[in-house]
Amino acid sequence: KAKQHGRNSYQWYTEDLNEQVNERLTLRSDIQKALEREEFEVVYQPQVDKHGRTIVGVEALIRWNHPEKGPIPPSAFIPVAEHTGQIFPINLWVMETACRYIKRLNDQGLACPSVAVNISPMQFQRPGFAESVRSVLERTQLDASFLELEVTENALLGDAEHAILTMYKLKKLGLRIAIDDFGTGYSSLNYLKRLPIDKIKIDRSFIREIISDQHDAAIAQGIISMAHHLGLPVLAEGVETEPQFAFLKKVHCDAFQGYYFGKPMSFDALTDFLHENQSTPEKRNADSIEED
Ligand code: C2E
Ligand code: MG
Ligand code: MG
Ligand code: MG
Repeated sequence: KAKQHGRNSYQWYTEDLNEQVNERLTLRSDIQKALEREEFEVVYQPQVDKHGRTIVGVEALIRWNHPEKGPIPPSAFIPVAEHTGQIFPINLWVMETACRYIKRLNDQGLACPSVAVNISPMQFQRPGFAESVRSVLERTQLDASFLELEVTENALLGDAEHAILTMYKLKKLGLRIAIDDFGTGYSSLNYLKRLPIDKIKIDRSFIREIISDQHDAAIAQGIISMAHHLGLPVLAEGVETEPQFAFLKKVHCDAFQGYYFGKPMSFDALTDFLHENQSTPEKRNADSIEED
């Protein structure tokens, strides 16, 4: 297409680039307003155990309902916020909101054993990050054992030593660390044995075609086997169908998250969801009989 434009193609690209820059600038100021006007929301997606029955936790995911533009997906504004540094207050707000609400659930006797929040790679380079997580836990009074931080392999880009040190500081608080989107980022497997991690999340891109694509199936199986040899449990993300679940169960995946089990939902919807799924003593009995 550029060829057809001939001499004009340069101008064409420049205008395109200008538009992109303008869009970014607008987004930046819109994000600022969103923070001030509290336009962000947190939704929660269930994570279930190896049988697909018991809820073992939830992942907190940000949502933005822009007053004029409507819903803007995280993939459209998180990268901008990471670029501008606005991601620091955003992620801490998500963490504090999620911790406060999960604490409320547990106080109501609705067991939600874990809440996972996404952390951006540059937060591990930021002085005082572990301390700010500790203050969130203090303010919300949530026991650290309920909190899980999801970090991608890219957290080790840049000053890896500093990132690792921060992870150890965070672990000392009593929380858990999961590697998110495993297999898609900066991958030197060498770091796996050096990091204080508690869980590996297989990226959705390997799950999507796991039934039809032998390579994806092999990769997923390889990740599970390696993780288990390292003593780490594995959660598969983006499980949408029964055959995907059945296959992953067969290859000993430990936990699941995906539309098949539940979409991200508001806090109120999560409360109802937990009510419906809360196992009664009868159900627990039936479950354990089935297991044997
Ligand atoms: P992620 O952390 O890997 O989160 C999982 C994403 O997969 C979520 O998209 C979720 O809605 C989606 N998902 C879950 N199950 C399924 C499924 O069965 N099928 C399909 N097609 N999708 C599924 P979402 O909420 O749009 O978030 C996208 C990404 O944006 C997240 O990927 C995460 O990297 C980032 N993100 C979301 N919330 C936050 C946040 O509070 N802070 C930061 N730093 N990043 C966030
Ligand atoms: Mg995540
Ligand atoms: Mg993920
Ligand atoms: Mg992912």
